[in-house]
Amino acid sequence: MFTTRFAPSPNGPLHLGHAYSAIIAHDLARAVDGRFLLRIEDIDGARSLPELADIFRADLAWLGLEWTEVPAQSARLASYADAAERLRAMGLLYPCTCTRADIAAAASETGPEGPVYPGTCRGTSIGDCEGAAWRIDVARALALTGPLYWTDELAGVQRAIPDRTGDVVLVRKDAPASYHLAATLDDARDGVSLVTRGRDLFGATHIHRLLQELLGLPVPQWHHHGLLVDGTGAKLAKRRGSPSLADRRLGGQDGQEIAHDLRQNRFPAGISLALS
Ligand code: GLU
Repeated sequence: MFTTRFAPSPNGPLHLGHAYSAIIAHDLARAVDGRFLLRIEDIDGARSLPELADIFRADLAWLGLEWTEVPAQSARLASYADAAERLRAMGLLYPCTCTRADIAAAASETGPEGPVYPGTCRGTSIGDCEGAAWRIDVARALALTGPLYWTDELAGVQRAIPDRTGDVVLVRKDAPASYHLAATLDDARDGVSLVTRGRDLFGATHIHRLLQELLGLPVPQWHHHGLLVDGTGAKLAKRRGSPSLADRRLGGQDGQEIAHDLRQNRFPAGISLALS
């Protein structure tokens, strides 16, 4: 069945950009009698605030959306560990103890997610993994899969170029999976057929496509929509003064009217849609 999802991380409140994203996913599913899922992506240990999940549900209901909720990521840890073990058994993961500062100092390229990991620990022996994160050896993985393609509804067919993102972390030091591994597994488990999310995650899709191939997962289509930005071109964020949905809801604003405006691409003063 045609299935979309909204997958917020409970590490900060939702704002209009999230509402825009959720409405797109919701409406695309509703238009064809499909399913619209809510998945709480709460494996970010220290930064996850459990109380935010209920606030998110209240925000979505206030916007007039209806959804089916699937299990949160914290309930799926065993499936992430299993998949990581399979990739390890294929010789595709290596332990890495580099800090962010080490990487920033050694990196010579910048990819869609910041400095590209320069491969410092590639070839590290499996014995040295105490307190390590695990990275995927992208070149080795691509040699196994051969060229891969994926389709974005808006941008068309893409050749997967996960090497631009570099050897990303799949198993964090402090969690059994990174966003890349968890979200890819969950979208497959949840039967998501159209992954809708902002263009800021376009680059991550190259890695997700590679993981699907390695793990034998179904390949959905993607819809990376434009981002709502403020007058400086920065993504909306509460710390930059963009009121959260909960602020607006508790302040008495009409959520359905806001949803209506977002559907017409009408935004409050100072906010616009950046398409690239
Ligand atoms: N949990 C991610 C976020 O809140 C979204 C991930 C996705 O849509 O793939 O930014």
